[in-house]
Amino acid sequence: MNTQSFDVIIVGAGPAGCTSALALSESSLNVALIDKSTFPRDKICGDVLSPDVVGQLQKLPVDFSSFINDFNEKLECKAVRFVAPNYAFSDISLVNYDLSGYISPRIDFDNFLFEHTKKCKNVTIFEGQEISSINESPEEITVLMKNGESLQSPIILGSDGAQSFVKRALQKEKPDKNHYCAGIRMYFEGVTGFSDLNAVELHFYNELLPGYFWIFPLPNNRANVGIGMLSSFVSKKKINLKQELTSIINTHPNVKDRFKNATIVDDAKGFPLPLGSKKRSISGNRYLLLGDAASLINPLSGEGIANAIRSGRVAAEHILRCHSTNRFDSAFNKAYDKEIYKRMWNELRLNYWTQVFMRNPRRCNWIIQHAITNSLVKSIVMSGFNAKNMFSSILKS
Ligand SMILES: Cc1cc2nc3c(=O)[nH]c(=O)nc-3n(C[C@H](O)[C@H](O)[C@H](O)COP(=O)(O)OP(=O)(O)OC[C@H]3O[C@@H](n4cnc5c(N)ncnc54)[C@H](O)[C@@H]3O)c2cc1C
Repeated sequence: MNTQSFDVIIVGAGPAGCTSALALSESSLNVALIDKSTFPRDKICGDVLSPDVVGQLQKLPVDFSSFINDFNEKLECKAVRFVAPNYAFSDISLVNYDLSGYISPRIDFDNFLFEHTKKCKNVTIFEGQEISSINESPEEITVLMKNGESLQSPIILGSDGAQSFVKRALQKEKPDKNHYCAGIRMYFEGVTGFSDLNAVELHFYNELLPGYFWIFPLPNNRANVGIGMLSSFVSKKKINLKQELTSIINTHPNVKDRFKNATIVDDAKGFPLPLGSKKRSISGNRYLLLGDAASLINPLSGEGIANAIRSGRVAAEHILRCHSTNRFDSAFNKAYDKEIYKRMWNELRLNYWTQVFMRNPRRCNWIIQHAITNSLVKSIVMSGFNAKNMFSSILKS
């Protein structure tokens, strides 16, 4: 059997995998990037690119002006609307803070990143190749793909999402439903009643706490509509998320009229969200986990793209140190865990406690009512929705 050797193998070409490859593009390392899908590929998501995502993209060797000027499959979003359990709402404008966010179908956004990554001279792409086994030896990691080809490297990056094969192969941790969210998404055409600022709308209805129903406007008169809810509550309350979503769209007094003339473009599809509300071990001997594989999703909003990109950048910096010191062992890789949590933990913890506070409808009403008038509440809410960093006045690192 023919085995190809690389300096690093990256499994998964979503935002975490592509950005780690991009962040290594100016190095002399020989990089393999494997994805089981053929691009463009869909990913179940709310499709919101928060201001934090925009900030992270600007730190990468990506031509950011091409995202702004040439990438058309996006809609600029200038506000976030929070609808309280009592149906009162607050609109937080991003314009006042000179921030930009976008909504872009993942089939397009992920393809944009993938196309940029394909241009990197030191990155070899293995597209449409699912991995079937990972073998560790004292000297290296060997990855076998389902087509029978095998690749070898001193270290592997697991950026293969919420159901990470790399994580399952190299770690034995079981998912904890208290730190997972269940999410379901539909695409519609012709939903009405969006605000002039293209606000993304989060509706915190009683029956969905801790979680929310969302309506996000998309280009071409489309909308991304869905529900996310903590998995332990979905099990405890025996909720069928698909029925709940259909029921809200057809009967909820606060939104049903907006769907009167809307048509379904893509039916309900679900996917888990591993939340960053608990610290985990995200590295070991000859491996690092990134993005959803490392459970870095914001526990309040469910946004994970910004932290996936951030982890891609941190992982690339760490891989360069591994090669310059020739250290790939678990003790050395602990520095990666430390750096990830140094950059993310304060906010993840704050967002988790805000989520816990908002589980009670009266407290949720209070937060949303004060989201505009009280500057502390406003900062907490903006941090929770990845608009601004609560712990720093400068752009997040
Ligand atoms: C319903 C829902 C709504 C969400 N809404 C938002 C939102 O609006 N904004 C936001 O920021 N975040 C949102 N998220 C979270 C966001 O989707 C993730 O945090 C983000 O996609 C993580 O990126 P990633 O690169 O870690 O993983 P992914 O984007 O999942 O990419 C993983 C890649 O690995 C590949 N792969 C998997 N297994 C293998 C294998 N065995 N071999 C080879 N390749 C493999 C997959 O094909 C995929 O391309 C949402 C998530 C859900 C489920």
